[in-house]
Amino acid sequence: MNNETMKIPQATAKRLPLYYRFLKNLHSSGKQRVSSAELSEAVKVDSATIRRDFSYFGALGKKGYGYNVNYLLSFFRKTLDQDELTKVALIGVGNLGTAFLNYNFLKNNNTKIEVAFDVDHGKVGTSIGDVPIHHMDDLEKVIEKEDVQVAILTVPSTFAQSITDRLVQVNVKGILNFTPARLTVPSFIRVHHIDLAVELQSLVYFLKHYGVEAEDS
Ligand code: ATP
Repeated sequence: MNNETMKIPQATAKRLPLYYRFLKNLHSSGKQRVSSAELSEAVKVDSATIRRDFSYFGALGKKGYGYNVNYLLSFFRKTLDQDELTKVALIGVGNLGTAFLNYNFLKNNNTKIEVAFDVDHGKVGTSIGDVPIHHMDDLEKVIEKEDVQVAILTVPSTFAQSITDRLVQVNVKGILNFTPARLTVPSFIRVHHIDLAVELQSLVYFLKHYGVEAEDS
């Protein structure tokens, strides 16, 4: 990311891909402008938050006109590095990993799973959704050759840390961790943690205790 985007609050930055996807759809349907109310309805973010987010991009909507779709799109493309393909590796081709390989991420943005790894000899040497599955012994060699920057971890949690240590050594910059393991990494590596079981449990807890009231922000 460039310096300009460093100043954007993290909560805003997290919503950028959401806005980007919706604006791209609007653009392909030939729409030139969009109001914050329309955007709000589509992406389910309240319009005051949208206006505040957009003000960070220097996009000031005009009353009765809304936002210029082209301007916003070119801003997002630049900010999200959409012109550059980010290569992703998937490690652990189990049930969840297989689902990710079959899911076409490129539909929505510029990330692509290029390679996958596993230790199961029945899987190594095969491909799923065009993605070749390599043996873990070749992790460093393949990641360096393919210039992979991001890794998705869908291995049993006991192996997550040792695999992470290997990824750090080969300059992987970001890890999307689907295992319940809490990972220790140097400060220059970014880890995003998605524990589906915890998310589901937390949804059920909130439904039980707070119903469908809005969460405090
Ligand atoms: P999921 O948890 O995705 O539903 P699963 O239940 O099918 O998967 P797991 O035991 O969680 O299987 O393992 C996920 C995948 O990780 C399997 O394909 C397994 O072969 C692979 N795996 C196990 N150990 C390692 C390791 N050390 N390195 C890479 N892959 C591994």
